[in-house]
Amino acid sequence: MLAQLALQQGTVYDIGRFTSARFGGVAERVGFVSELEGRVSSSIVDRLADQGSGPVLGAEGYVFELERRGYIKAGPFVPEVVLDYPDAVRELHREFLRAGADVMVALTYYAHREKLRDVGREGDLEAMNRQAVRLAREVASEGDALVAGNVCNTWAYDPDDPATGQTVRAMYTEQLGWAVEEGVDFVISETNDYLGEALIAVEVIRDLGLPAMVTLAPTQPDQTRDGYGYAEACRILAAEGAQIVGLNCDRGPLTMLPLVADIREAVDCAVAVQPVPYRTDAAAPTMETLRSADGDRAFPIALDSFTCTRFEMAQFAAQARELGVDYVGICCGAGPHHVRAMAEALGREVPASKYSPSMDLHPMFRADVAAKDAAFLHSWSA
Ligand SMILES: [Zn+2]
Repeated sequence: MLAQLALQQGTVYDIGRFTSARFGGVAERVGFVSELEGRVSSSIVDRLADQGSGPVLGAEGYVFELERRGYIKAGPFVPEVVLDYPDAVRELHREFLRAGADVMVALTYYAHREKLRDVGREGDLEAMNRQAVRLAREVASEGDALVAGNVCNTWAYDPDDPATGQTVRAMYTEQLGWAVEEGVDFVISETNDYLGEALIAVEVIRDLGLPAMVTLAPTQPDQTRDGYGYAEACRILAAEGAQIVGLNCDRGPLTMLPLVADIREAVDCAVAVQPVPYRTDAAAPTMETLRSADGDRAFPIALDSFTCTRFEMAQFAAQARELGVDYVGICCGAGPHHVRAMAEALGREVPASKYSPSMDLHPMFRADVAAKDAAFLHSWSA
């Protein structure tokens, strides 16, 4: 894998230089990148290539968690919190960092022109994108984390209407232009429903001279919405220059891992998997299809009863590593307790491990439980 990554890294540099000469509009930004090239283009690649340190651990789901905490409106799910309550974003970054996340992902998910227009904040677009990267960088520097810029599906793309491709490209170009100026180590393009839209992201990221991690949203049984099998789509993304490919969101561990095994077989580059921590199964393979006992749709704000325990997510992390996954993470629904359990399942001790469970010190579960407490325990077990 090392040689493969090194080769792709070289490709990124070449394309970056080519782009700066060819496109005046982005030349300035690409020039900025090349000054930092040694740092920004090598770190995620180096970490992935360092087999001794195990998989890179990712942590996402910022939008769901900050919605739960009362800082984001469910429905539009636009991350206005970045400007309105930056401390809330810092805090969640810090919780994931302490739990062992190797990457702080800038909260620019849905912070694109189309979505901000929906909530009447188009004027805040640039400030929101820049601030999100600054917050991620600030907390990343408290540990040893990388900073990822972030773009996602736009809802503007239509494979049958080529003009929409230009709209998407313009959105990605402006968002990532600001991210590059604020300083990101690589870019995650995620929850892609269409291979066509993901390829636009690869092109824009590549032109900025940054490593690209591109993951598809596996909402359908076995293929993207424009008709490519997930493994085939990943193979094409890798061939077009994505350094890391895979799946994120929508599926829980049980229904995500079989698809990932196929992707691992199909590509030589690094593979990423970031499931939601919900108990999806054959009957309801995605969180969108989960139903409560009375038949109501649980997605997106009544999923609590389907939430995986930390132990289930720890098991997932170990299984993903077994499959040869290079970037193991978690998406919507994630809590820091999940991330810490995943880190520890991967053999790490992280800052939050200081407070990892010690049930041997629990008054009821300790070996030398007092006689009066043992009586309580009897009632708990009845
Ligand atoms: Zn998600």
